[in-house]
Amino acid sequence: MANDQPVPAWMEEPLGVIDRIELLTVSLPFVAPFGTSVATWSCKEALLVRIADKGLVAWGECVADPDPYYASETTTSARHIIRDFLLPELKPDYSLAQLLERFRRVRGNEMAKAALENALLDLLAKRRGLPLHGLLGFAPRRIMSGISIGFQDDVPSLLAKVEEAAASGYHRVKMKIGRGRDVEWVRAVRQRFPGLALMADANGDYAIADAGHLAALDGFALTMIEQPLSYHDIFLHSLLQARLITPLCLDESIHSCDDAEAAIALKSCRVINIKQGRVGGFLEAVKMARLCAAQDIPAWSGGMDETGIGRALNIQLQAAPGFTLPGDTSETRRYFHEDIVEPPVLLDKEGFIAMPQGPGIGVDVMETRVEKYLLDRELAREHGGAARQKAKGKSKK
Ligand SMILES: [Mg+2]
Repeated sequence: MANDQPVPAWMEEPLGVIDRIELLTVSLPFVAPFGTSVATWSCKEALLVRIADKGLVAWGECVADPDPYYASETTTSARHIIRDFLLPELKPDYSLAQLLERFRRVRGNEMAKAALENALLDLLAKRRGLPLHGLLGFAPRRIMSGISIGFQDDVPSLLAKVEEAAASGYHRVKMKIGRGRDVEWVRAVRQRFPGLALMADANGDYAIADAGHLAALDGFALTMIEQPLSYHDIFLHSLLQARLITPLCLDESIHSCDDAEAAIALKSCRVINIKQGRVGGFLEAVKMARLCAAQDIPAWSGGMDETGIGRALNIQLQAAPGFTLPGDTSETRRYFHEDIVEPPVLLDKEGFIAMPQGPGIGVDVMETRVEKYLLDRELAREHGGAARQKAKGKSKK
């Protein structure tokens, strides 16, 4: 298989006794609520993994929401899985490769696994003084930008948002669609912006019986329609794709390389949205991008409205081969008045985003801001052993 790659030496070295691992929940207010066909969120609640070890501090971010409306995992379920099932597998003489093999015992829970794996990768990169993309052996590159515009109250408000995005230089614009808010809304955007790279994301709002209705979207030269059918379907998407000219892209249905292989083999989609936090982590995402490249399937890095920690991970990931399309990576100011990292993500004059060159995720986490937005803090591991201290933060709700 094209995906067999030699295991790098750093993955086979013992992780050693790690001083301290904490689980923190933060809640950052969004600049504006983000609406999709499944839910609307007005703040970003994120579970963070903080590793302090021999003077270094490393971070991971879980992409789960506080609710199970987008995915079955939540910030609370991920905390439980990390604390009670993943961290007990962490032994000082284990390498990262051995640890990840142990994680396979835990079924599903990809978001929880990704958060811990990412924090450990950040630590390993920082131990070597390398940026994450450098640890993985990828050359830095500036990445393409893309923006996801949530549901707006009416068509004029949507057009104003698209206008703003196009003027900012984003390489593609994604709009949300759902039952009753689709063909006419897309038509309005396309008529106003005939040359725009435009796509639509349904977040699983349709059924295969809607194929005839969705075919009306073929008239608008969309770059793709993302996840039109159920969040756990792969097969029915193959029937829908056969009836549409517009390429389909799968998002919620893809949890692993096995899922991606099945979707490609069944011709269920012509594009894949790779969210590292949804597929079990950075390393599975790199493997999936390689698989997509080998199969001539364009791929892009999706977003989950992450804080600057997760956003930095997504930027580092896009140094990997196979990310050929603009993803969901947008400027920080689109999401937060104040983020928990510096520097913020900015577009250059041509709409690209620079890849941070600092060690690990490449951005600095502002711990005073983490404290400011903290909901909950738990010391989960200390000096290689279990620790069960829980300290409530200041509630922001
Ligand atoms: Mg999506």
